Amino acid sequence: MEALIAVLPGDGIGPEVTREATRVLDAIAARGAHRFEFKTARVGGAAIDASGSAFPDDTRALVAEADAVLLGAVGGPKWSAPDAPVRPEQGLLDLRAAMNVYANLRPVKTRPVLYPASPLRPEYLENVDIMVVRELTGGIYFGDRSRTEDAAMDVCTYTRPEIERVVRMAANLARDRRGKVTSVDKANVLDTSRLWRSITDELFASEFDDLELETLLVDAAAMHLLTRPADFDVIVTENMFGDILTDEASMLCGSLGMLPSASLNEHRKGLYEPIHGSAPDIAGRGIANPCGAILSVALLLRYTFGLNDEAEAIETAVYAALEAGYRTADVAGPDGKACNTVAMGDAIIAVLMNHG
Ligand code: NAD
Repeated sequence: MEALIAVLPGDGIGPEVTREATRVLDAIAARGAHRFEFKTARVGGAAIDASGSAFPDDTRALVAEADAVLLGAVGGPKWSAPDAPVRPEQGLLDLRAAMNVYANLRPVKTRPVLYPASPLRPEYLENVDIMVVRELTGGIYFGDRSRTEDAAMDVCTYTRPEIERVVRMAANLARDRRGKVTSVDKANVLDTSRLWRSITDELFASEFDDLELETLLVDAAAMHLLTRPADFDVIVTENMFGDILTDEASMLCGSLGMLPSASLNEHRKGLYEPIHGSAPDIAGRGIANPCGAILSVALLLRYTFGLNDEAEAIETAVYAALEAGYRTADVAGPDGKACNTVAMGDAIIAVLMNHG
C-alpha cells in the first residue's frame, strides 16, 4: 500500500511528538509491504507567524490531497493575547471543519504497567476499556460568538443530522465492542441537550434496540468516570463535554500524553492527533511523552487503511517498551527514572523491528 500522509506538526511539543510518530510509520514501512510519503505543512501559531493565517491555503490544499492527516498540537502563550486578531486554535477548528471530521474517537484503555502513574487506586483501573466519541464539528466551539468590553457570548447549536450521525457512529462502534452506549448531556438545563437526548432515545428505539443505552448528565458522568470507569463501553457526547471528560479520563491511563485520537468523516479520511495540547511548559526540552502521537498513527493505520495487524503491532510495541522500563517523566515509574522523547521513540521502534 502507498499513502500520502499530511503532517502538521503545529506548535510547542507538537513537532517533537509527531517526529516520533512518523519514525514509527517509517519502521512499519521498513518491515515491507507499505510506503508512506510525508508532506509537512504549517498550522496554528507556526502558520500565523509565517503567513498571518492559522490554516493557510497551502495547508488546506495538502490536507485535501492527502490520504490521512497527522497533527501535533497548536497554541501557546505567544499567540494567546486576549485581543489577538487570530488564534492558533482557530486553525484547528478550520482544519476539522474542512475535513468534516465530525466524530472524534478517543480510546481510553488502562494497562497495569501504568497503574502506578495514575492518581487513582489500582482497583479502580482494572478492566477499563472505554471508547469516547466526541462530536467534533458542532456545538459551542463552532457557534456564533461576540464580545464587548463588558459582555461576551458563545452560542451552542446542534441540528438533528449532526446529532444523528455521531450517535450512529458511536452505536455502530458499540456493536463491535460490548454493546453499551452512554450518552452524556446536560438535558436538565440545556435545550441542545434535550434535543440530543430525544434523538438518541429515538435512534436506540428504532435502529439500535439490540444495544444498551445509558444516559448521564455531564456533571454526574465526570464523577462516575472516576468511581466506576470499568462500567463504560462507548461514551458519546457533544464537543465541549467530550473535550473536558477525556482530559479527565486520561488520568486513568496515567497521563494526558498517553491518549491518541482519530477524527473521522463519512469517508474514513481521518485526522489523527494525540489529545493533548502544545504543552508550552515543557516544549523544547525533548521530554514530552510521544506515546499519544504514536498510538494515533496506530489508529491511522486501523481506521483509514484497515491495517489492523500493523496497528496492533504499534500498540503492542508501545506497551512492551513501557514494560521494559522506558518512560517519559509524566509516567515515570516509582524510581522516578525517565527517558526523553527520542529514547522513548527508539525503544518502541526497536520492539517493532525485532518482532517484525
Ligand atoms: P496541554 O494539553 O498542552 O498540557 C496540559 C498539561 O499536560 C501540561 O502540564 C503539559 O506539560 C502536560 N502534557 C501534555 N501533553 C504532554 C505530553 N505529551 N507529555 C508530557 N506531558 C504532557 O494543555 P494546556 O497547557 O491547557 O494548553 C496549552 C496550549 O495547547 C493552549 O494554547 C491550548 O489551546 C492548546 N491546546 C491544543 C490542543 C490541540 O492542538 N488539539 C488541545 C488542547 C490544548
